[in-house]
Amino acid sequence: MTGAATLLKDVFGFDDFRLGQQEIVEAVTAGENVLAIMPTGGGKSLCFQLPALMREGVTVVISPLIALMRDQVRALQEAGVVAGALTSGNTPEETDAVWEALEAGTLKLLYMAPERLAAGSAIGMLKRANITMIAVDEAHCVSQWGHDFRPDYLRIGELRRTLGVPLAAFTATADAETRDEIMQKLFDGTPPRSFLQGFDRPNIHLAFSAKNKPRDQILTFAASRKGQSGIVYCGTRAKTEGLARALREAGHSALHYHGGMEADDRRIAEARFQREDGLIVVATVAFGMGIDKPDIRWVAHADLPKSIEAYYQEIGRAGRDGAPAETLTLFGADDIRLRRSQIDEGLAPPERRSADHARLNALLGLAEALECRRTNLLGYFDETEITCGNCDLCDTPADVFDGTTAVRKALSAILRTEEWFGAGHLTDILLGVETDKVRARNHTDLPTFGVGKEYTRNQWQAIFRQMMGHDLIRPDPERHGALRMTDAARPILRDEATINLRRDSITAAGGVRRPAV
Ligand code: ADP
Ligand code: ZN
Repeated sequence: MTGAATLLKDVFGFDDFRLGQQEIVEAVTAGENVLAIMPTGGGKSLCFQLPALMREGVTVVISPLIALMRDQVRALQEAGVVAGALTSGNTPEETDAVWEALEAGTLKLLYMAPERLAAGSAIGMLKRANITMIAVDEAHCVSQWGHDFRPDYLRIGELRRTLGVPLAAFTATADAETRDEIMQKLFDGTPPRSFLQGFDRPNIHLAFSAKNKPRDQILTFAASRKGQSGIVYCGTRAKTEGLARALREAGHSALHYHGGMEADDRRIAEARFQREDGLIVVATVAFGMGIDKPDIRWVAHADLPKSIEAYYQEIGRAGRDGAPAETLTLFGADDIRLRRSQIDEGLAPPERRSADHARLNALLGLAEALECRRTNLLGYFDETEITCGNCDLCDTPADVFDGTTAVRKALSAILRTEEWFGAGHLTDILLGVETDKVRARNHTDLPTFGVGKEYTRNQWQAIFRQMMGHDLIRPDPERHGALRMTDAARPILRDEATINLRRDSITAAGGVRRPAV
């Protein structure tokens, strides 16, 4: 395909295709229906831009991110390509120019926000123009159950049927469920030619740590990376401000960022991060979509992300230039409780909730993993990896012990109190502490009372957290977060299975040894 190679060099300025790009470009250029799943930063946009130039007629590109669309259009125009965008941010003149170029037949790429499809007139106009292909960026936005759902994406299927042209869909979200939804909603259930690019980002070092004075843990992590650009993700807006201040007091250059800030302030923070070297942004998940900074050297999570996909996407912002990058994700029992209750108290229907619990479980499994994190993470994306040599568990193997007896004691305390209590009270029972509440409920009479004195209070907290991480117990929102046993715990209770627990997080929680950060 000499034409493609020439365009690659002349228009885009690249000498070679990146891994996987060429096959996708060929299939899309040939007019096949295509679903391409590539990790963020993998170079998706080239896979529809280049075919658009190879084919006659106009390619419509649907994208949810107005800022990114405008960036891409500007870059294409600078490279001499006739491209335009129809978005809510347009001036009337810009919109007129786009329609004119479309009617004159000079336009090659027409970017559109999905909302545009809601106006019947737009589809009518497109029908009269020489549209020969549809490209859909961030195709997972069609998934009703995903966090980026855009209702107007559901109209894309109709657009494809109306125009009768091939469609190429692109996303970085790889789970089978989302893939299936894309196939149903964008391709009417007829499987497109699918490309699944490698999800491994071998230059990113993966590490998790149980929370133990989390602010200090983040400060320690940042201290050894002074002068590097980094992102700290926090679970709440309030926390971003406090942590940014603490980082500044420690001599870093740091900003906070969250969805509650004025749009102008957010833009200023984004622009500074993009431009400056060595700036830390302490942010909620509102920060990142659309940030295209190749040399982010580290990403830390001060709180557990909400799912394994969110984790992958957030750490994936580091090291896009391929140079080594570091990550650290902190997690604690409170995070698990919070994430569970967010799912339980959300508006999603029951079948969706169980899928969300499963995605959270996948992340907790990664957090409590006993062997190579990358093997675990890639396994989630159906990829295999032996051991990576670039994660905390490859650096220092987990120190485990047979936790079966401890888990059984904890389960016994839960069941004998009829699943009505939280970890604090259960720990009092296990330690044999006669609090008012213990006395009032006659829990001193339980056979479990005082049977757990071999561990400290903090160690029991770590055991309960690991049990939550293995989904052996779950807080019940209808019982004020009381811990209840799951079916997964039954084999352990019945002596049919054993379980290993991590000793290091137990000693860390006991204050004996600080976790390595
Ligand atoms: P994605 O949409 O998959 O996150 P982009 O399409 O924005 O990724 O591409 C990510 C970066 O990779 C961009 O800076 C782009 O210019 C660069 N890129 C894409 N293809 C190539 C290539 N063949 N050679 C070198 N750089 C490339
Ligand atoms: Zn590893």
